Amino acid sequence: MTQPNDETIARQVNMLPMSTLAAKLNIDYDHIYRYGHHKAKINAAEVFKQPGRHGKLILVTAINPTPAGEGKTTVTIGLADALRRLGKEAVVAMREPSLGPVFGIKGGAAGGGHAQVVPMEDINLHFTGDIHAIGAANNLLAALLDNHIYHGNALDIDPKKVKWRRALDMNDRQLRHIISGAGNHSDGVLRPDGFDITVASEIMAILCLAEDLNDLKQRLGQIIVAYSRSGAPVYAHQLKAAGALAALLKEAIHPNLVQTLEGTPALVHGGPFANIAHGCNSVLATRLALHLGEFVVTEAGFGADLGAEKFCNIKCRKAGLKPAAAVLVATVRALKYNGGAAKNQLATENLDALQKGLPNLLRHIRNLREGFGLPLVVAINRFASDSEAEIQLIQAACAQHSVAAVLTDVWGQGGAGGTDLASTLLHTIDNSANNFRLSYDNSDSMAAKINKIATRIYGAAKVSFTPQALADMDKLAEIGLGHLPVCMAKTQYSFSDDATQLGAPSGFTLHVRAVEVAAGAGFAIALCGNIMRMPGLPKTPAAENIDIDEHGQIHGLF
Ligand code: ADP
Ligand code: MG
Repeated sequence: MTQPNDETIARQVNMLPMSTLAAKLNIDYDHIYRYGHHKAKINAAEVFKQPGRHGKLILVTAINPTPAGEGKTTVTIGLADALRRLGKEAVVAMREPSLGPVFGIKGGAAGGGHAQVVPMEDINLHFTGDIHAIGAANNLLAALLDNHIYHGNALDIDPKKVKWRRALDMNDRQLRHIISGAGNHSDGVLRPDGFDITVASEIMAILCLAEDLNDLKQRLGQIIVAYSRSGAPVYAHQLKAAGALAALLKEAIHPNLVQTLEGTPALVHGGPFANIAHGCNSVLATRLALHLGEFVVTEAGFGADLGAEKFCNIKCRKAGLKPAAAVLVATVRALKYNGGAAKNQLATENLDALQKGLPNLLRHIRNLREGFGLPLVVAINRFASDSEAEIQLIQAACAQHSVAAVLTDVWGQGGAGGTDLASTLLHTIDNSANNFRLSYDNSDSMAAKINKIATRIYGAAKVSFTPQALADMDKLAEIGLGHLPVCMAKTQYSFSDDATQLGAPSGFTLHVRAVEVAAGAGFAIALCGNIMRMPGLPKTPAAENIDIDEHGQIHGLF
């Protein structure tokens, strides 16, 4: 049952030339900017001028995961390949990987096994430079801000209330908290400072929600970088920063085009954090994919409590998108983990733990189908260690709730392992009502928005707000931003804010510690627990196994 590793599989395919890929999408080759042989950017603004399609949007989401991830990206890619095998013009729209996880624990984010996007080495390492451009824009804003304070501080910025941090695309805990401006008077103003990983920068979220270059610039100007001594917000436009920041992002705003192992076009663009940001690829890439394809398969980060919720309530709300269906990825091992099985025992058959974990799956089914009103199919992402009895147990539970649960093996077989899923999905879209709806209104108070998410989606009995959080929400209303949607930042492992509450906890209190604002991106951020914005490396980082040989071939990426 062993199959070659991801690199070996990826290296064995003959990638299509970009001209063939452009032809598959019906894009004029002039609107494609090649980055080497197998990567390109697409000038979306030009392509939108030509007649297009109105593709159907499929969201791939998941149950609460184990720390290794449950295969959303893998299933996203494999499902698109499977739809192509059924004669549908499918396109993938997904996030681009950050270097932090590549060198840390999780590894790359280009899928796995026979369901990958290629060239996987390039996609995982720097790709077309978007994330570095975002880092440069982030740090230009930081430099302009400190320079303003240094040169007389006309805006009366309180150095203790600077909200804008520096960014680097690396897992480097050493930089989380620093003192900047040390040295002599001419070396700047001494103040507490720190770095976030670039994908946690608000500029990443902005790039992913921007409609076009103008909107991007507008949003960049709306970033709140600090508060003045009198408590007034200080915006990036007051530092005259928006134009220069947008100029740095002039290439990054164009969606990237690559392909799957089976030659399905894939738009891989933007990758905001899924906790303090909304965790989906860019609106531009999604829209472009819908313009070019019949079916667009896309992924949202983390489990459906966070990923699908933000995909719907933030991305779809802002961009006016309406998903045609959701695919909920479940694995035997994650359900056993949710049922209390130890992390190192997930490969052993355990029907008891699986049974205990099923309520997690059932709550996500209820949320997607009744909560968001979406046609739904469960994809059981097959691992070699799953037993027949375990798979049957999941299928029986889903059948009881009238949801199709389709065994999927795109990791082992590529698109061929996903055609059952694809045909069930097509049937479901054609035969079930789509009552897509959001969870709250813009006009609800911030506390009401958080309450609705916590009680209706998470299963909480109530929400408790710290005095800080209450003050933050008052401030938001005072500066006229109370209408924004809310981005929930909590653990991905539980419906609650406690990572050890697995399965389907209920009756708990959700604790909101503080409420921040990403005014440029256009959402408030409710912080539930401690949220990491600059991860660290594990004791044995993946970097130790990554190498390049004398032919320039990279080894050790996964
Ligand atoms: P997610 O997007 O949910 O975080 P990924 O698709 O990135 O998950 O998959 C996480 C890891 O698990 C990857 O290394 C991937 O290759 C691996 N993986 C996914 N599906 C399978 C499977 N069915 N069998 C074995 N490994 C898998
Ligand atoms: Mg993923």
